[in-house]
Amino acid sequence: NSFGETELEEGLKRNIERCKYVKPTPIQRHAIPIASAGRDLMACAQTGSGKTAAFCFPIISGILSLKARSSSGLYSLPRGDGGGVAYPTALILAPTRELSSQIHDEAKKFAFQTGLKVVVCYGGAPAGHQLRNLERGVDILVATPGRLVDFIERERVSLSKIQYLALDEADRMLDMGFERQIRKIVQQMNMPPPGSRQTLLFSATFPTDIQKLAADFLTDYIFLSV
Ligand code: AMP
Repeated sequence: NSFGETELEEGLKRNIERCKYVKPTPIQRHAIPIASAGRDLMACAQTGSGKTAAFCFPIISGILSLKARSSSGLYSLPRGDGGGVAYPTALILAPTRELSSQIHDEAKKFAFQTGLKVVVCYGGAPAGHQLRNLERGVDILVATPGRLVDFIERERVSLSKIQYLALDEADRMLDMGFERQIRKIVQQMNMPPPGSRQTLLFSATFPTDIQKLAADFLTDYIFLSV
């Protein structure tokens, strides 16, 4: 019943200790083993439940182990320096500027000194600074849907290498009218080989439109409610 016992990469475990997280919250206790095993997940979790770490830990650990294997020649991973186009490995979608920048702050702490690059893009702020950050390379992109669609259309971001997708506060994203953008974004990832993307869907509520999203985006998923 501690993070030390979970199957997470050592670099991440050091950062978890540094953040003074000792005991997993209920959502973390259940979601992390499921997501670390590579399964798609639909989780009902409220703000304050520790959901950010619940999706960040498996993603960070997963990318670190992909990178460890890539240095032994088994995988080749994008670097995001392909002629001004950024190729993130993981995408975390969130409804607002505030939430996306909170997730970015937390994810950076969890990825501290691991070599992983975390970048955030949201609307309502100039694009220039965000684009320059993307040009320096990105492993994990945290974004709001509107700004991301803009960057995809301007060919500054490609989602063709995405292996991990997390949607945070999905119900709020739908309430804010982002469904069309979200579907457009996920469509960009439906490239071969099929089934290579892992998707984690987090929502406070589970109404019909979220059930539909889960059915459309997730593969053989586990439902979790805490
Ligand atoms: P969240 O629900 O992800 O917004 O997290 C709520 C707050 O709880 C944040 O300030 C986290 O840093 C903190 N937190 C999350 N998980 C843990 C944990 N296992 N131990 C201590 N603090 C935590």
